[in-house]
Amino acid sequence: MEVHEVNLTISAVAPKQYPDGGLPEIALAGRSNVGKSSLINTLINRKAYARTSSQPGKTQTLNFYNVEQQVYFVDVPGYGFAKVSKKAREAFGQMIETYLSTRKPLRGVILLVDARHDPSEDDISMYDWLTYYDIPLLVVATKSDKIAKGKWNQSESRIRKGLGMQASAPFIQFSAETKQGKAVVWQWIEQQAAL
Ligand code: GDP
Repeated sequence: MEVHEVNLTISAVAPKQYPDGGLPEIALAGRSNVGKSSLINTLINRKAYARTSSQPGKTQTLNFYNVEQQVYFVDVPGYGFAKVSKKAREAFGQMIETYLSTRKPLRGVILLVDARHDPSEDDISMYDWLTYYDIPLLVVATKSDKIAKGKWNQSESRIRKGLGMQASAPFIQFSAETKQGKAVVWQWIEQQAAL
């Protein structure tokens, strides 16, 4: 999709604030600093629209970006905040779980993992959880420019194995620096959202 118009419709803390109007939604999830804002900005052709590096301790919200009046990108707050209290972490987990498990317009989730590392415990939990709820899932390995192209297969195998992905489960190497993978991520979104 050629994107010209994007609006942050709402930073929601509760389900009653989620937008209605029936547009399909694609959620993006991953641990903090994985490159989620950079992926969103690449997809919508902006330099710094989605905020970068969510700050630990800040109020955690689900950010709904209306893209071309056709689809919402739902920015799920980064998980793995060491600095947030246990209580805050639980409430935050509950908000995400409720959204992901009950939200009707949700058509798919993009799970971001770092191309350079083995998936973390949190990545694995998130993957298992999304698989359990049968939510269409695309795994995107971020910051691929930081590893040599010759090592991409190795990185993919490690991530697939770490997450326990089936061979047919979709996986894409991505870089916000080189835009590698942008078209394929868009293709997946368009397919899931039936655009
Ligand atoms: P978020 O916390 O998941 O939203 O992560 P950000 O998008 O803010 O990215 C975290 C850091 O990683 C920033 O310093 C980015 O510049 C850097 N980063 C994100 N994506 C890429 C990428 O594809 N390649 C490289 N080299 N750095 C990236």
